[in-house]
Amino acid sequence: MKYRDSVEKSAEYLRLALPLMAKQSTALHPVSYAVWYEYVSGGNLALRASIDKYLQSGAVLDEQTTDDIFQKHIAEINELVAQRVSEGLQKVMADMSSSATQAGDQADQFGGALEKCCVDLDPLNPGATMSADAILGLTRNMIGSIGSLKGRLDESRREIEQLRQDVVKAREEALADGLTGLTNRRGFDLAMAACLIESDTSEYGLSVLVSDIDHFKQVNDTYGHLFGDKVIKAVAQILKDNVKGKDTAVRFGGDEFAVLLPDTSIEGARQVAEKIRKKVEGYCIKRTIDNEAVANITVSMGVSSYKAGESVTDFFSRADAALYASKTEGRNRVTVART
Ligand code: GH3
Ligand code: MG
Repeated sequence: MKYRDSVEKSAEYLRLALPLMAKQSTALHPVSYAVWYEYVSGGNLALRASIDKYLQSGAVLDEQTTDDIFQKHIAEINELVAQRVSEGLQKVMADMSSSATQAGDQADQFGGALEKCCVDLDPLNPGATMSADAILGLTRNMIGSIGSLKGRLDESRREIEQLRQDVVKAREEALADGLTGLTNRRGFDLAMAACLIESDTSEYGLSVLVSDIDHFKQVNDTYGHLFGDKVIKAVAQILKDNVKGKDTAVRFGGDEFAVLLPDTSIEGARQVAEKIRKKVEGYCIKRTIDNEAVANITVSMGVSSYKAGESVTDFFSRADAALYASKTEGRNRVTVART
C-alpha cells in the first residue's frame, strides 16, 4: 500500500487539491484525484514538474493529459504486463479448477466402486462377484489420477511463480535506468516517499546527495558519445560501490545522479559525498580504441538533510542549490546545503 498518510494529513491534501482540480477541465474522478493528491503531497517530483510545466504554459489539464500523467507517473506496472499476468493467472486457475473437478469426479467413481466392493466382498452376500484383482486395479487407477492431479498442481505452481517473477522483473525494469541499472527518477520518487515515512522514527533522519559530472559536454565532444556513456556507467558503478544496502543510488538522466541516504545525518551524507567525489577524481578510465587513460573526470555535489515539515521539493531543491554552488565555486567539490 503506497498511501500511508494519516486521516488529518489526507484531509489537508484534499483541501489543497480540490481548488486546483476545479481549475482544470478534467472531471473530479479518482484518477484526477490521485494525480492532484500526488501533486499537493509533494511526494512525486517528476509528476509535479510535469504538471508545473503545463500550468506555466497557461494550459489546463484535460482528461487525456490527466490520464497520461497518471499512467506515466502513478500506474506502477506497465499495463500490458499487468494484463498478461492477469490472463496467465486466469488460465492457471481455470486449469487447476478443471483438474480438481476431474479428480473429484474420479474420486466419486472410486467411492462408488468401493461401495460396490463392500457389497461384493460381503461374505453374507451370495452374489459377490468382484475379485481382489479388480479392486487392486481400481485402486491403482485412483492412485494414478491423484498422481496426475499432483503433477498438474505442481505445473500450475511453477506457472504462478513464473508470473510472479514477471511482475517483479517488470516493476524493477520500470524503476531502473537502462544505461546504468541504477534506480530511475520514478524509482527515486517512490523511494523518497517511503524514506520520508520512516524518517520520523530514524535516529539521524534522511539525507540526500545530488551529483553532476563536471564539463561532461566536453567529454562527449572530445571522446565521443559512446565514451561519454562509459564515463556515466563508471560514475554509476562508483556510486553503487560506495553506498550501503538501505541507500538508493539514482540516475536522473544525462550526467545527473543522486543518492538517498536514510538514517544518515548531514555530516554522514557529506562524508559519503566526499568519498565518492575522491573516488571519481582518482578513477582512471581508458579509451577502448587505444587504451589511452582519460583522467580529469570529476563530479560536483550538494547534500541536504530533511527538515521536519518541509516539502520534498524544498528538501531536494536545497541539495540542488548546494550542487549549483559547488559548480560556481570551481566544481569537483561537495557543498552542504543551508538549513
Ligand atoms: P557542468 O560542469 O556545468 O555540469 O557542465 P556539463 O558540460 O556537464 O553540462 P551539463 O551537465 O548541462 O551537460 C550534460 C551533458 O550530458 C549534455 C548532454 O549532451 C550529455 N548527455 C545527456 N545524456 C547523455 C547520455 O545518456 N550519454 C552521453 N554520452 N551524454 C549524455
Ligand atoms: Mg554536468
